Amino acid sequence: MEKFEVNILGCGSALPTMRHYPSAQVVNVRDKLFMIDCGEGAQLQLRRSRLKFSRLNHIFISHLHGDHCFGLIGLISTFGLLGRTETLHIYAPAPLESLLRPQLDFFCQGMPYEVEVHELSVETYSLVYEDRSVEVYAFPLRHRVPCMGFCFREKPVLPHIIREKIDFYKVPDYAIARIKQGADWVLEDGTVVPNAHFVRPAQPPRSYAYCSDTTYLPEIVPFLRGVDLLYHEATFAECDKRRARETCHSTARQAAEMARMIRARRLCIGHFSARYDDEELLLQEAQTIFPDTVLARENLNLQI
Ligand SMILES: [Zn+2]
Ligand SMILES: [Zn+2]
Repeated sequence: MEKFEVNILGCGSALPTMRHYPSAQVVNVRDKLFMIDCGEGAQLQLRRSRLKFSRLNHIFISHLHGDHCFGLIGLISTFGLLGRTETLHIYAPAPLESLLRPQLDFFCQGMPYEVEVHELSVETYSLVYEDRSVEVYAFPLRHRVPCMGFCFREKPVLPHIIREKIDFYKVPDYAIARIKQGADWVLEDGTVVPNAHFVRPAQPPRSYAYCSDTTYLPEIVPFLRGVDLLYHEATFAECDKRRARETCHSTARQAAEMARMIRARRLCIGHFSARYDDEELLLQEAQTIFPDTVLARENLNLQI
């Protein structure tokens, strides 16, 4: 199966703890790396993860709170030291460009590569990136500042050809592409051999959704229906629900409710408040609603 995995680099929230780094993760799609959020220390964690710096060309920032973007300038500077030449694309809400540019001008003069900032303002679920194998959609979340989530969707792949059947019916090479696209094959005597004889269906496209800092937001359920893996912030436990509402965050129970409504296959919760010494409490709370939940932790690798 082609690679599609999520590597958690950090899953704490704003206050530093001995347990967690702030938010950052890397989605690996067929060895192309996409970073989501870039909290302080993201580059150290990237080193630790043994993922190749040179394969990271796109960074998606959910919102401009420090625990999601203070790691950017360090990482950008390191890329320069490593002699990077490929343009680095950063997708983020405004005004990242005007905040970042003076830092780049001061700290990163003469860098051998370009940083291109794509400022996004998303009102609804919208495509923000695509290549041959994946599409990335952004969708609005509700937080104290403009904030968005990201959904990675593999593009459907064509079915696999069954070589023996092709040989058996002596299908010429030029016709194989058409058969992959779904065409039947007609023999000389006019007999139609149905397409299903020649192909084995490819595996269905996989998907991953990242819900960054947000209040409980059932409005986004239709966008994310059926994702294979949902990462959802769970800053607070249900006993601190009021605090969650005041700070525009979610509880573990609410994260699990979202996973249940979305009918996600699996849920990973993160962005833990520094106030909980034992995050098992959050896990248990989520699992009562959505059993297939795991706690995020640094260096966790989730295969999709
Ligand atoms: Zn945060
Ligand atoms: Zn925030």
